Amino acid sequence: MVHMTGVQKWFGDLHVLQDIDFDVAPGEVVVVIGPSGSGKSTLCRAINRLEPINEGDISIDGVPLPEEGKALARLRAEVGMVFQSFNLFSHKTVLENVTLGPIKVLRKPKAEAEQRARELLDRVGVGSQAGKLPAQLSGGQQQRVAIARALAMDPKVMLFDEPTSALDPEMIKEVLDTMVDLARGGMTMVVVTHEMGFARTAADRVVFMADGRIVEENTPDEFFTNPQSDRAKDFLGKIL
Ligand code: ADP
Ligand code: MG
Repeated sequence: MVHMTGVQKWFGDLHVLQDIDFDVAPGEVVVVIGPSGSGKSTLCRAINRLEPINEGDISIDGVPLPEEGKALARLRAEVGMVFQSFNLFSHKTVLENVTLGPIKVLRKPKAEAEQRARELLDRVGVGSQAGKLPAQLSGGQQQRVAIARALAMDPKVMLFDEPTSALDPEMIKEVLDTMVDLARGGMTMVVVTHEMGFARTAADRVVFMADGRIVEENTPDEFFTNPQSDRAKDFLGKIL
């Protein structure tokens, strides 16, 4: 579903993605972990060209990522993104946040977009909040709205970049539970997170990054019990 080969990315002199080969199969859930600054966010952002790359090839569902223009916009719509900061439109209601993309980008009729939005809001457990503004919701609720908003575009793959890092501890579980449901429902997912419980429960594969490289990848069981590289052993020693 996501296919990256030989991807190189520099920020000035800083080589942030070094010869990255990264594949995600349809329905697969891949958790990306690694120290701060290792390139995890850049990898996520490169997948839909929010961050342009210097070399290499990226394709989504077999279609090479276009450089720009309408073709890029179309492909981007197929990749849902959920960030650490929820990035909801603060002056729009929860329902409007979820219907905006489908109406503007997918040209869905308003009634149809609203019906689908209500289904998705129910599914992530915030159906009763549809008429409120984001600021009236808790952080955990806002993040679940952000997930519903991404799902409303019918993405082929969902990218999550530390979706629970900005949340108070008691709200982390409700967001992770939503993500586990999504994973069990067969969604293709790339998840950058330090939540090892989520990785153990939901991931098909863990990818460990350090210094812009994929150092090691394995099933969660193997990775957590039997890390191969010194970098991974060192990292796990610090967080587990
Ligand atoms: P991670 O998400 O693993 O913490 P990032 O992908 O955010 O890592 O960053 C990788 C490296 O690239 C870091 O050293 C970071 O400081 C640097 N970096 C990220 N974005 C930019 C940018 N827009 N300009 C310059 N350097 C950047
Ligand atoms: Mg990051």
